[in-house]
Amino acid sequence: MRLAGVMGWPVSHSLSPRLHGHWLRRYGVQGAYVPLAVRPDDLPSALRSLPLLGIRGCNVTVPHKEAALIIMDTVTPEAVRVGAVNTVVVGQDGRLTGSNTDGYGFLQNLKAGAAQWRPRRPALVVGAGGAARAVVAALIDEGVPSIRVTNRTDDRARALASALGAPVEPVAWAERADALADIGLLVNATTQGMTEHPPLDLRLDGLAADAVVTDLVYNPLETPLLAGARARGNGVVDGIGMLLHQARPGFAAWFGIDPTVDQPLRDAVLGGLAGD
Ligand code: NAP
Repeated sequence: MRLAGVMGWPVSHSLSPRLHGHWLRRYGVQGAYVPLAVRPDDLPSALRSLPLLGIRGCNVTVPHKEAALIIMDTVTPEAVRVGAVNTVVVGQDGRLTGSNTDGYGFLQNLKAGAAQWRPRRPALVVGAGGAARAVVAALIDEGVPSIRVTNRTDDRARALASALGAPVEPVAWAERADALADIGLLVNATTQGMTEHPPLDLRLDGLAADAVVTDLVYNPLETPLLAGARARGNGVVDGIGMLLHQARPGFAAWFGIDPTVDQPLRDAVLGGLAGD
């Protein structure tokens, strides 16, 4: 029996057990993926217990992603750059390797949802939290020539830009609409647009008709930002695919199969959002 799970506090809202559970059934794997509710103070002992319990690894979610980084024996360069771990793999020797697959998930989702997108024009990323950092790092690696970052708290955009270096440039929050002019990609990496939050505060008037707009928020699936972009003819990519794709490397490491992201998986996970 192969075992894995997701550590968070709280963790009952996590869609990951539903996601991995779908793949386990689909591929007939003898295994289980379970929620692991771990208090912040207990995170080091919980992670260190994984090899003792014969658990092959876990995802790490809010609020543990940053704290997990310093508990690992080895961390991948992506995790160091992002400053957070979302996937832990227990090696044969019991050592813990932490990686961050959010940037990978973001790019895979973008390419799947907007096949026409090319990393030739500047991008604007709104937000400067952990998710924005993963997105910006992935866009740098993809060769986007200029990545503008704007954030309600300007200092955090400046800090992100100086941590990740060229070609990242901070844009003052007050000037965010001007930064749309020549971009090929707009990314919302804030919590704005989530259910019970106001929409992203950004007018799209200056956005080129062929720019792609993507939202990391997936509840609701069609955020006001995506609805507005779609109405003016822009290509749009919703956020649920990022969640699905970021899970692939972990599943492959724990259960030995590189799983497919497809419509039945998407439906199964969206059923969780709808409370099925
Ligand atoms: P975070 O670290 O808490 O960052 C939140 C971001 O939202 C910050 O940039 C914050 O700006 C901004 N924000 C909050 N309230 C705002 C407001 N009223 N006006 C403007 N900006 C506001 O969160 P995170 O982990 O980066 O996650 C960001 C979003 O991405 C969340 O909605 C999360 O659910 C989503 N996400 C999706 C996936 C996926 O797989 N699709 C993966 C990871 C995250 P300040 O710095 O000014 O507070």
